[in-house]
Amino acid sequence: MDIFEIAPEEARARQLRGALLVDVREAHERASGQASESLGIAKDDLEADPDRYLPDRGTEILLICQGGARSMRAARVLADAGYTNLASVAGGTTRWIAEALPVVKPELDGDRRDFNERYSRHLLLPEVGEAGQLRLQASRVLVIGAGGLGSPAAFYLAAAGVGRLRIADDDLVDRSNLQRQILHTEARIGEPKVASAQATLSALNPRTDIEAVAERVTSANIERLLEGVDLVLDGADNFPVRYLLNDACVKLGIPLVYGAVQRFEGQVSVFDAGRQRGQAPCYRCLFPEPPAPEFAPNCSEAGVLGVLPGVIGLLQATEAIKLLLGIGEPLRGRLLHFDALAMRFRDLRLRPDPDCVVCAAGKAFPGYIDYQRFCGHRPE
Ligand SMILES: [Zn+2]
Repeated sequence: MDIFEIAPEEARARQLRGALLVDVREAHERASGQASESLGIAKDDLEADPDRYLPDRGTEILLICQGGARSMRAARVLADAGYTNLASVAGGTTRWIAEALPVVKPELDGDRRDFNERYSRHLLLPEVGEAGQLRLQASRVLVIGAGGLGSPAAFYLAAAGVGRLRIADDDLVDRSNLQRQILHTEARIGEPKVASAQATLSALNPRTDIEAVAERVTSANIERLLEGVDLVLDGADNFPVRYLLNDACVKLGIPLVYGAVQRFEGQVSVFDAGRQRGQAPCYRCLFPEPPAPEFAPNCSEAGVLGVLPGVIGLLQATEAIKLLLGIGEPLRGRLLHFDALAMRFRDLRLRPDPDCVVCAAGKAFPGYIDYQRFCGHRPE
């Protein structure tokens, strides 16, 4: 069946004589205005179940979108579904408005308006769009540490609309943190870092649910912390937690976005061995054994340029958002190294170790170990 294209003015005249005008754009597109008395039904919804929205197949149905192409495609789908009296509005809503035909702004409830306005720049990206934004909203990320890496990462994950952030840290805000741990403030020195993080993040995006866990991460609580989590962002500043986190993520099949900083350099990777046994490496494939403590000073011993964890934490947040959305090429099997003084990035290929004690294909989980002892730390 041929689909007729009609001018907006003709569509308006037919609408007034009883034809049904259907706007097939997405809800966020219709929010800025749609043709008066038109019915808003997104194209995918309409095509999936036309009987739910439309009267019988002989009714005169006029379809409109933004520029006229999408409505034409929807009309063809409806024609194939047996609708016999269809037309598409040439030039769409853009031309409808240019010709000064009547427009209404749909009444949105407050929540919907907040969503549309807050995430408008994401909604404009076809790679994110409404479906991606809803996916972010439905996801839960565990951030280990509300320190140098966790601060910028959690800041942007909350801004981006990740629905639930579980943040684990047992530390208190100290004045020496404020040079880089941007979630915290002068006034909150001495408060638990997770409470400070919760205050900042909730002020930024009240839609994000912050689960503040003021606990040290140990073998005893790691699986509880990982429950219901889509991915983990590692902002730990010590090796025992890093190995524990790696082992638990391999065991439970949860992707781990790793980051580390020291002085003027940092590194980032995505370890996804739990879901891709024998295909993707884990942290232990890269570092089967920790360095001796005297060769692995942390920031409080070796110092760190304040902006450096900002760069690395945001690279981690970028990878986290890509993984949650399922877009782009994740930093899986690659170690990105950043040198701030040279302003240089290097990308090293990582291979899974076929003899890795934790992630080798077909290997049963060996169990959690004494990570403090493994890393040469005396028990505290
Ligand atoms: Zn491994």
